[in-house]
Amino acid sequence: MADGAPPDLRPPGAPRSRQAHLKDGLLLHAESAALYALDPGEAAALDALLGRDEAALARRLGALGLDLAPSPAAPDAAAPPPPRALALTVSQSCNMACGYCYASGGAFGGAARLMPEAVAIAAVDRLIADTAPGGAVQIAFMGGEPWLARDLIRATVAHARRRGGARAVKTGFAMTTNATLLRAEDAAFLAEQGFAVTVSLDGDRETNDRLRPMAGGAGSFDRVARRLAPLLAEAGRLTLSARVTVTPDNLDIPRTVAALADLGFASVGISPMLASPTGRGALAGDDFPRLLAAMTEAGEDWMAATLAGRPHAFANLATALGELHRGRPRSQSCGAVRDYLAVDAEGRYAACHRFVNDPLGQMGDLAAGPDPAARARFLAERQVEAQPDCAGCWARRLCGGGCHHEVLHAGRPGCDYVRGWLDYAIGAYGRLMAARPGWFGDG
Ligand code: SF4
Ligand code: SF4
Repeated sequence: MADGAPPDLRPPGAPRSRQAHLKDGLLLHAESAALYALDPGEAAALDALLGRDEAALARRLGALGLDLAPSPAAPDAAAPPPPRALALTVSQSCNMACGYCYASGGAFGGAARLMPEAVAIAAVDRLIADTAPGGAVQIAFMGGEPWLARDLIRATVAHARRRGGARAVKTGFAMTTNATLLRAEDAAFLAEQGFAVTVSLDGDRETNDRLRPMAGGAGSFDRVARRLAPLLAEAGRLTLSARVTVTPDNLDIPRTVAALADLGFASVGISPMLASPTGRGALAGDDFPRLLAAMTEAGEDWMAATLAGRPHAFANLATALGELHRGRPRSQSCGAVRDYLAVDAEGRYAACHRFVNDPLGQMGDLAAGPDPAARARFLAERQVEAQPDCAGCWARRLCGGGCHHEVLHAGRPGCDYVRGWLDYAIGAYGRLMAARPGWFGDG
C-alpha cells in the first residue's frame, strides 16, 4: 500500500473484472478457466487495468494470445443424453436426528418409508438399458440412512451386476451412510463390490454428538467409531472418505480434519451448509469470513504436509488443485440432471438426491422414463451462462454457479467465500507447481 492510500478492504478474490483474475503472478482467463504464469512486468501491467479499463484489458489479453470470444459453447441443454448415474433413496427414513438435515430427518418432508424392490430394479434396468454396451454406470445408495434397507441394497447390487454383465455395461457403486448400523459383514460386502463409501461425521466426539445425535438424543460418535473398524480394515478394497457438514457450530476445520484423520480416514471432505430445510445450521453473514479462514488454515496444513511428501486428509484443496490443473470450464457446479438423477421410493426421478419430494426438481417417473422436456428446461435455466448474478464473476467457469438446490432455496449468500477460496487455491496451485510439479501426475 502506498503512503496515504486507503486500506484495501475488499474480501480476498473480490471481483474486479469479468475477464480475468490475477493471483501471485498467475492469470486466470475467466471464460476458459485456463491459468497462465506471467512475468512480473506483464502481471503488473494487467493488474493496473483490471477493473479500471476493461477495453484496454481486453486488448492486452488479446496481445497475449488469449481468445476473448466466449469460449466453449455450453453443453446442449436441449438434448441431454440419458443419465449415467442414479442415486436411489433406498431408505426415506433415518435413525439419527441432525438438525440441519437436507432430508428433514430422512423422509424428505413426507412419510418415512423404504423403497420397494420393484422400484429399485426398474430404475437399474432402465439405467442399464439406456447405456450402450461397453459403457459404465454408477449407482449410489442414499437415504435417510441406507442401511435401514440392507436387504434391498444387496438385492439391487446383485441385480445390477447381472444386468450389467449381460449388456457389457460396467457397474460401479457408491453409498453415503452415517455408519451407525454398519455390521462387519456389510463392510466385507462393500469391499467385495468395490464401493465408494462416504461416511457423514461432523468432527470429534463432542462436536459430532452435538450436531449429529441419534433419533433418541444419544451421541453417535462412539457408536460410529466402533462400527468403522471393519470398514477401515477394508480400506484397500474400497474408496473410503468422511464428509463433514460445516455449520456455524463446527467451523474449526483443521481440528475436525485432524480428529477424523485420527479415526482412520485418509480423506476428509468439507461441505459448507448453505441451506437447510429447518433454517437451522445454515452459514450466514460473518460465518463466511470465518469459514474462509478455517479452510485456508486447513489448506496450509495440507500444503505443508504435501510439500514435505506426507499424506494429509484434507480433500478439498487436492480436489480444487486437480480441477485447476485440468482447466475444464464448467457450465454447472455438478452433474445433476445432465449426468445424474435421483429416484425416490415412489419411483419418481428428481434432479439429485436433495431434490427428492421437491417440486422444483421433479424429472418424470420410472413408468415413462426421465422427462426430456423437464431435464432440458432445468439445464437451460440453471446453467451458469443463464445466471445474471454470475455474468460478471471471474470465478464463473470454476464455480459453475453454485449448487442448484442451494441456489434455488437460499440464493447465493456465499459468493465472497467461494471466490476467496478459489483465489487461495490458485495461489496454492502456483506454489505446488513451483515446488512439486510431479504431484499433478504429468510432470
Ligand atoms: S455462484 Fe459462483 S459463479 Fe456465481 S457469482 Fe457466486 S461465486 Fe461467482
Ligand atoms: S444440485 Fe447440489 S446437492 Fe444436487 S448434486 Fe448438485 S451440488 Fe450436489
